[in-house]
Amino acid sequence: MKHTSKISITCPQCNEKISIGVEDVILKSKNINIHLPHIHLHGNPLHALLCYINSELEIRNVGIIRSIEISRDSETFTQIMKKWTNPY
Ligand SMILES: [Zn+2]
Repeated sequence: MKHTSKISITCPQCNEKISIGVEDVILKSKNINIHLPHIHLHGNPLHALLCYINSELEIRNVGIIRSIEISRDSETFTQIMKKWTNPY
């Protein structure tokens, strides 16, 4: 099982409580001076919560993405299914 760091936030679009999991390997690899962009897809209609996370695992900025497009090729589908079964 992968190690993750969990952060909770309420989505400003739908008020759903979102638990954000960031892979430690990604956190460790990033430049600590740059906020890590993290995206969380959910809701009906589907939208994305875009969070910028600092090295102290605090959310510094959030955005909502309502315009989402997913490539309809088998490689992308396979990768999405992999994320689905093992999200972090
Ligand atoms: Zn939402």
